[in-house]
Amino acid sequence: MNYKNFKSVEKCVFGNGSFNQLREIIDAKKQSADDYFVFVVDDVFENKAFAQRIPVLEDQDKLIWVNVDKEPTTEQVDALTAKIHGFGKLPAGLIGIGGGSTMDIVKAVSMLLTNPGPATQYQGLNLIKNRGIYKVGVPTLAGTGAEVSMTAVLTGPVKKLGIKCDYTIFDQIILDPEVVADAPIDQRFYTGMDSYIHCVESLTGTKNNAFSTAFGEKALTLCQEVFLREDISRLEADEKLMIASYMGGLSLTYSEVGACHALSYGLSFVFGYRHGIANCIAFDVLDEVYGDYVNEFRQMLALHKVTLPKNLAATWTEEEISKMADVAIALEHMWIHAYGPDWRNVLTKEKIMNWYRMM
Ligand code: NAD
Ligand code: ZN
Repeated sequence: MNYKNFKSVEKCVFGNGSFNQLREIIDAKKQSADDYFVFVVDDVFENKAFAQRIPVLEDQDKLIWVNVDKEPTTEQVDALTAKIHGFGKLPAGLIGIGGGSTMDIVKAVSMLLTNPGPATQYQGLNLIKNRGIYKVGVPTLAGTGAEVSMTAVLTGPVKKLGIKCDYTIFDQIILDPEVVADAPIDQRFYTGMDSYIHCVESLTGTKNNAFSTAFGEKALTLCQEVFLREDISRLEADEKLMIASYMGGLSLTYSEVGACHALSYGLSFVFGYRHGIANCIAFDVLDEVYGDYVNEFRQMLALHKVTLPKNLAATWTEEEISKMADVAIALEHMWIHAYGPDWRNVLTKEKIMNWYRMM
């Protein structure tokens, strides 16, 4: 047996208002007077009050707004890397501020700055040769676990697949519940459900073990409190959700996602559905795999008055359904986790197509 040997985030600050420590943290990394930082920030915050709190030194640092209306692509990462190379000297660090998409962009760009592109050649496991530059992650949504994971998920021309290696991991993260406080209800729910689904998939699959269970069970309990307790304040819920995201991510590090994520990747690849909502659409048809958890998920939907899009398949062609099933079935590691090494004996492409037809 060859066990996984994983790297973790080096430093983490957690707490209300901890975002205010960002400048002090990065200043400590400066080694010469002309060192500067590049802030890569979700453009949803452009012209918002929060933008005023980003500690950019006007005369030294650079601030780049990124658009994540679509999930990050290899092309986007290559363009951003080229832009930063255009500044001349490499920055002393990158600071990513945004949801899971922005986290992944920053993780990838940090490595692409020290490894020649294009990004497509690094989609996979341990393909990056050189350590990237120092990077800090400040999540503005809670749930994906991208702040702690070893993966930078990117969509390329032929596949949606992560760059995964020791160098992907953030050097520093800042988990400030105040920063996620203004996220819109639906987006907060969908991203939060990513964490719930990570836990369910991690705990119910064949690769589960004492390590992933410890993190997965606790994160699942936190998600249940956040989304099922009616008396919980928004602040308490956001604190718990940030930790659920972190622990759910760690649970996955030692386990794997499963059937829901495989179907979700098909939806994102073919129709561009965002990760959180795509997971919810997929989870809602997986009673056969996840049983009572799906009922619990529906209670959460009802309590938070979130309405999932329905009857999507009515407008899909068989060709599109087949394409999504091809994307899903190719994610072998997820099916091995869900059903064991003999998964091909229980799962057919037709069965996957049927799940899509139920959406
Ligand atoms: P996101 O980053 O894709 O953002 C979703 C939307 O919310 C965007 O329109 C964004 O502009 C907006 N947004 C972000 N923060 C906001 C805030 N505080 N207020 C208002 N709007 C805000 O959402 P996500 O669900 O956090 O991330 C999904 C992405 O994460 C996908 O690209 C997925 O592939 C990736 N992911 C990565 C991992 C990993 O391990 N690396 C794990 C799961 C998901
Ligand atoms: Zn996920």
